[in-house]
Amino acid sequence: TYVPLVELIHEAAERWNLKSSQLIHVDSEVEDAFIYADRIRITQVFDNLINNALKYSPGKEVIRIRIAEEAGCYVIEVTDYGIGIPAEMHARLFDKFYRVSHSGSRQIKGSGLGLYIVKKIVTDHGGTITLTSEVGRGSTFRLRMPKPDHLD
Ligand code: ATP
Ligand code: MG
Repeated sequence: TYVPLVELIHEAAERWNLKSSQLIHVDSEVEDAFIYADRIRITQVFDNLINNALKYSPGKEVIRIRIAEEAGCYVIEVTDYGIGIPAEMHARLFDKFYRVSHSGSRQIKGSGLGLYIVKKIVTDHGGTITLTSEVGRGSTFRLRMPKPDHLD
């Protein structure tokens, strides 16, 4: 089915905004962004990314989600201003059970499955996920989801 991307992201952000004192700000350059996807699984992607962004920014900094358009795809960026991820760990970050031992920060619990699942869902939908991050400054996870050829 076709799912309304922007609406779905607003819903996910809204749910987390109710649970957390940390603000999740959604900024969209597009209005109607439909993608061909499984609504439940796509929601799981944003839940996981928002969950991580909150979990790994213990200073309660704002989380920013930006939705934009590129030729042939929608780009969604989830940015936090948290602890960041060392560059040498980026390649393994999406592996099953992989977790970073962040030095200097108190141990944050998790199973290491979140990003593995995120990547699986995104690639199953023909999309890609990349990240840019700087230790002590924060991280941006960038999704590219293909636009449907035609809506029917
Ligand atoms: P869970 O299965 O509960 O999501 P998790 O959060 O540890 O557990 P992933 O979501 O797969 O597992 O993330 C893998 C690792 O990547 C995390 O342990 C964490 O070290 C690092 N990480 C993920 N997102 C961020 C982020 N936004 N900022 C800093 N580190 C992150
Ligand atoms: Mg996680």
